[in-house]
Amino acid sequence: YFEQESIVIQTDNGVGGQVIMLKNITPFKELDAAKTNFIATISHELKTPLFAIKMSTQLLDDKRIGELNTDQREILESLKKNTERLLKITGELLNLSQVESGRIQLQKEATQPAMIVERALQAVQQLAAQSQVQLKQNVGTNLPAINIDEEKTTWVLINLLSNAIKYSSENGSVEIKAEKINNQLIFSVADRGKGIHAQYVTHVFDKYFKVPGSNESTSTGLGLSISKEFIEAQGGSIWVKSEYGSGSTFGFNFLLNS
Ligand code: ADP
Repeated sequence: YFEQESIVIQTDNGVGGQVIMLKNITPFKELDAAKTNFIATISHELKTPLFAIKMSTQLLDDKRIGELNTDQREILESLKKNTERLLKITGELLNLSQVESGRIQLQKEATQPAMIVERALQAVQQLAAQSQVQLKQNVGTNLPAINIDEEKTTWVLINLLSNAIKYSSENGSVEIKAEKINNQLIFSVADRGKGIHAQYVTHVFDKYFKVPGSNESTSTGLGLSISKEFIEAQGGSIWVKSEYGSGSTFGFNFLLNS
């Protein structure tokens, strides 16, 4: 691998030239690939024990095991929250390694919009209940099936829904929508939460970007950047409309074959 740099030289008396430098960056590329591989392996390896921990916390919640006292319940809630956080981070790292290696493998199949909306809603139901946020859905009737990667698109929807819930206030509501406008299929997630300042809104899809002061210890700033990669890899486009103080709508569009 070579990186090219060039300098154009122009003197006052009209004599000019160009210097082209080629830098061999193969070792850096190899190191980068090794790092990406390492991240992929580690995050994959972490997932199995983390799921086992998650299952155990769910078992502890089962009344048949016995009632927990207040202190024990508090510890269990913390354990559950942190397990979810670790699962989210490892999931993001795994996806990031795919994105970084430039190998987003798509498994496209004819997908019913209502089905992925349903799956995404199910995945965030518990989070919404804990945060006392009401989930609403508005899926157009007779929407055509689209040829997309079901798993990755559902992951994006879950990510948008989790953010919307996270940044909503208690008793807030979040609406997920799927609609067809002209020859586009549009998915969107709207919240009435804190919204995003105009100066930051253009950066929310940047890697590692977090809105300053969002004070979110659970935030990695990766979710939206990976979402963008996943949607664009499928030929779609992702967008946000937000008004500070009154809420945000995140969405993505896919062009339907006419
Ligand atoms: P993370 O994966 O850490 O949640 P994201 O990439 O999803 O990070 O989000 C980047 C930043 O965008 C967040 O830190 C947050 O400040 C802001 N953000 C994302 N979604 C919303 C939303 N629905 N309302 C307000 N701010 C949001």
